[in-house]
Amino acid sequence: TPLIDIRRLTRDYAGGGLFAKPSLTRALDDLTMTVEAGTIHGIVGESGCGKSTLARILMALDKPTSGDVLFDGEPLFQLSPKDLMRKRRDFQMVFQDPFGSLDPRQRVARIVAEPLHVLEVKPSRQEKRDRVMALLEAVGLTAAQADRFPHEFSGGQRQRIAIARALITEPKLVVADEAVSALDLSVQAQVLNLITRLKRERGVTFLFITHNLAVVDAVADQVGVMYRGRLVESGPARAVFERP
Ligand code: ADP
Ligand code: ADP
Repeated sequence: TPLIDIRRLTRDYAGGGLFAKPSLTRALDDLTMTVEAGTIHGIVGESGCGKSTLARILMALDKPTSGDVLFDGEPLFQLSPKDLMRKRRDFQMVFQDPFGSLDPRQRVARIVAEPLHVLEVKPSRQEKRDRVMALLEAVGLTAAQADRFPHEFSGGQRQRIAIARALITEPKLVVADEAVSALDLSVQAQVLNLITRLKRERGVTFLFITHNLAVVDAVADQVGVMYRGRLVESGPARAVFERP
């Protein structure tokens, strides 16, 4: 069974109103797709096609108008609040601008440990510290850097910190929304290498959302192409990009 089974997902936004005529934007339109565990799944499409809406729904930060998402076989939007909380450790997100999402007043160790608050059984202080250190090392940073602040790091390093933070709850799925788009090409390549390694060595599943075809071409096993809230093409990256 797939890790993620997106079933006929539709999301309408109400617009207009007060001064403009009421209107409806169908951000997702009957979208169906699956993501297999242990793969990097790219989602590409122009701005406004519904990528961010899809990401928010997969993170359970937004609800579909209709349809559902089976996560490991469980329908996300039929779960009780308690069960949804339990599920939250299984999915994490990495955003485009890690500077915006890393609290500038916190030290790296605390930033990376932050998602652990969703765990029912909280690790001890020592265990937390050990996990943070192991992850920093896994993303190519050093233990000495754990006590620094985000502004002391380069853009690529900050993105590595964001990836470490996403992995701290040992999630099954990491949704990366334009996660390397703001980086220079050489730094992009380093972060993409890291993501490929995390897939290979830890079996992490990535949903890689971007408008940048070259990025998806470089890392994705499977690719879905979105257009106006719909999935208009999907398949192995090789086939979608017509590589020989
Ligand atoms: P992106 O292309 O990354 O989605 P946008 O600038 O389109 O960035 O959107 C930024 C934020 O504004 C998103 O959270 C999105 O949901 C929200 N947004 C986009 N379009 C509208 C809209 N028409 N009305 C209200 N919020 C919107
Ligand atoms: P993308 O991430 O591919 O740029 P989005 O998911 O942000 O696409 O947006 C899809 C469509 O939904 C766009 O037409 C956008 O303007 C609209 N939209 C997104 N968020 C909102 C919102 N909060 N309110 C109203 N419209 C929105």
